[in-house]
Amino acid sequence: MHPTELFGDEDQALIAERIEQTFQTGESNVEAVLVSKTGSELPYFFTGYRLDSDNGPILIGTGLDISERKKWEVQLAEKAEELTRSNEDLEHFAYIASHDLQEPLRMVASYLQLLDRRYTDKLDQDGKEFIAYAVDGATRMKRLINDLLAYSRVGTRGRPFAPTDINVILGQVQTSLQTSIEETGAQVSIERMPTIMADETQMLQLFQNLLANAIKFRKKDQIPQIDIGVKKTVSEWQFTLSDNGIGIDPQFFDRIFVLFQRLHGKEKYSGTGLGLALSKRIVERHGGRIWVESELDQGSCFYFTIPNKPEDGV
Ligand code: ADP
Repeated sequence: MHPTELFGDEDQALIAERIEQTFQTGESNVEAVLVSKTGSELPYFFTGYRLDSDNGPILIGTGLDISERKKWEVQLAEKAEELTRSNEDLEHFAYIASHDLQEPLRMVASYLQLLDRRYTDKLDQDGKEFIAYAVDGATRMKRLINDLLAYSRVGTRGRPFAPTDINVILGQVQTSLQTSIEETGAQVSIERMPTIMADETQMLQLFQNLLANAIKFRKKDQIPQIDIGVKKTVSEWQFTLSDNGIGIDPQFFDRIFVLFQRLHGKEKYSGTGLGLALSKRIVERHGGRIWVESELDQGSCFYFTIPNKPEDGV
């Protein structure tokens, strides 16, 4: 038989071309479907070598049955598609849920304010206290909804990447955290930062979350010292943000990046547990990774990477 006769019509030209190529270059590979006499089909991976003998070149070929691998590939592709779909559904759900929750919440909050304003002098101490609790609950819920909206928007409302000067971003972050920097006396030292291809608004959110946490989770008896640095490797920028705060037990390193996961009660440290989950999504949208190194009581160092595109420059 001629080698091409082992294959179906669609693969015959390809096989003929690869045989030709093997004679010319000495080696080639190809995936093709082997058709048996009975017509059953099996995917194969072929490798061909040219052997130069005294009687001229000979082609030696080996074939490996890859039907098992193909089956896994199909399943993997289906799973990936399923995962993308369920992620999109979840994003959509989070957006709708938080968006639609805003309206009734606004109503609750504004009537509470009205009660507080018009009826304070008619209420006893208990009544005033109850209203204060309700206002506190509504405020916290508002914060949660806003964070959830921000989280669900990372993928859908993200802007295209453009040259973003991180020095400028960090200047803006320090301005918006000025009050807490001044109140705590935090010392923030920043290395010279590069201009990178990124979504400016998301970079602002990212650095703001990390810096706000570094200040929030400070030790009671120590002035917060925060160092922000950057290193360039062949393929990426690696940013670091280290603090001298309360630190994190290594067993919780993964947990803190999960939605709504917090290690402390809201009475001790305010927050919704969304900051790091949001930060992770932002970094991942940019094609990078985020992680933390820390020990309890020894401060924390957060790392994240952003791929380094050729057009970036310091
Ligand atoms: P939030 O700050 O609203 O609690 P985050 O998602 O930003 O939520 O952080 C999750 C948890 O990770 C925090 O509750 C805290 O326990 C821990 N954490 C984050 N940053 C730091 C830090 N710099 N030092 C110590 N613990 C931290």
